[in-house]
Amino acid sequence: MTSTDRTTWDLLVIGGGTAGIVGAKTAARLGARTALIERDRTGGDCLWTGCVPSKALLAAASRAAEARHAAALGVSAPAVNVDFAAVMRHVRGTIAAIEPLDSPAALRDAGVHVIAGDATFTGTDSVEVNGKRVAFHHALIATGGSPDIPPVPGLVEAGPLTSDTVWELEALPGALVVMGGGSIGVELGQAFARLGSRVRILEAAPRLLPREDPDAAELVRAALVRDGVEVLTGHRAVAVDGTPGGPGVITVDDGSGTREVGYDVLLVAVGRRPRSEGLGLDAAGVELDRGFVTVDAQLRTTNTRIWAAGDITPHPQFTHLAGVHGSLAASNAVLGVRRKSDVTALPRVTFTDPEVAAVGAATWEQDTANAPRTVTREHAEVDRAIAEGRTDGFARLVLSSRGRIIGGTVVGPRAGESLAEITLAVRHGLTATDLAASTHPYPTYGDGVANAAISVVQGRLAAPAVHFAMTALVALRRVWASRPVRRSSR
Ligand SMILES: Cc1cc2nc3c(=O)[nH]c(=O)nc-3n(C[C@H](O)[C@H](O)[C@H](O)COP(=O)(O)OP(=O)(O)OC[C@H]3O[C@@H](n4cnc5c(N)ncnc54)[C@H](O)[C@@H]3O)c2cc1C
Repeated sequence: MTSTDRTTWDLLVIGGGTAGIVGAKTAARLGARTALIERDRTGGDCLWTGCVPSKALLAAASRAAEARHAAALGVSAPAVNVDFAAVMRHVRGTIAAIEPLDSPAALRDAGVHVIAGDATFTGTDSVEVNGKRVAFHHALIATGGSPDIPPVPGLVEAGPLTSDTVWELEALPGALVVMGGGSIGVELGQAFARLGSRVRILEAAPRLLPREDPDAAELVRAALVRDGVEVLTGHRAVAVDGTPGGPGVITVDDGSGTREVGYDVLLVAVGRRPRSEGLGLDAAGVELDRGFVTVDAQLRTTNTRIWAAGDITPHPQFTHLAGVHGSLAASNAVLGVRRKSDVTALPRVTFTDPEVAAVGAATWEQDTANAPRTVTREHAEVDRAIAEGRTDGFARLVLSSRGRIIGGTVVGPRAGESLAEITLAVRHGLTATDLAASTHPYPTYGDGVANAAISVVQGRLAAPAVHFAMTALVALRRVWASRPVRRSSR
């Protein structure tokens, strides 16, 4: 270390992804002297290699699929031609359009001092960056995560693509194998299939999207198959034989034996591991749990002056949560308040077609005695879905014993948007009656959610005691109405 930066920062943020950017801007807005250290590009995974490029790629793929299937609605498009170079220009253009919001200039405009460099903790109140000591009153660790490469013999040597490197592809892969059937694997698998690759998805679990409602996962599987994807669930990769950039062969085991699956390009999407190595966390007194920074409900680490947010923590890995937690940790740190993280109404979306959007309590596990009640409205009963020929979906609500909405899953076009209403309901403890009493515009996919709620109310009205009381009231009104009409005094 050669010198010391004279400022002791109120909040020193390490990492300029979503959690770091939102945390730094929050602290600066609150009047704290704030610095952010980023070793690569501000914007993080979401902007450069995650949400933004994947959604741009999916958008192009979706246009191709719509054109191919338009004949079902009486419109035929000539043969669909995919210009992969142009698709990737669209992807890069999307990043370029969003990038200014996350840029060092935008951070400086917000009052954040930006330092380019690699930060390492040197003690409980300082880091080293570019050979200089930088001191802090409070720090926020927001160093995110990287794609995980599972310990399959030969896999590292085969130099597979990951979500970090797939964006460097210059030509559309011929035969693409995607290892991993979680959100990232199915999104990228569907996108490449629709753009023209021959895609196989390998998933060791018995089904795709193991964390989602099985009915939702089944609809995604069926959609992938329609797109020409070969879905190999219950298949574990046991060996890979290939060279970086070249074709190769994966040996897979489905429990009854092994077989070989060839590929031109291999993409690994089996999860992400935290970027905590080399951060000097021992020196800072910050403890880890399986590589993730341990945090309490206020997002404080085991060093009470250091906080953490985003993919570096054990919380679910979403940009929206990284942002919320970045802001929460920063305000707790600089104001000394004790706001707690609450993920009961945390929404999540898999942006396949159909989309899968879910929040709160699980909509399945119906086999347990205490499983909460669910109510489902299929999109085959939703007029908008019928009009668009998109009936492969549903809206499902989970209800507590007192009728409160405690979770939900929506599958279908723009399911993420329909989920917003359920998220609000879960967050504020609303009931199905509350939702049913709100007027919904017709015809929208939101009718699925509304009609599921209405069916709960209708079910209640059909209960024998209520039905008896209603029938008696109507009969009384009939008698009353048969009296001679009187003029109103108004
Ligand atoms: C393909 C893909 C698609 C995704 N799609 C979605 C989606 O649709 N919706 C969604 O909500 N989430 C999505 N995600 C997840 C989302 O990208 C992450 O949850 C989010 O980016 C996490 O933000 P973060 O700030 O915690 O970390 P990052 O964005 O990873 O930022 C961490 C930053 O810290 C920097 N850094 C690391 N170590 C140091 C150091 N020692 N010194 C200085 N700087 C350092 C890194 O360079 C990086 O810029 C997707 C992820 C992938 C891979």
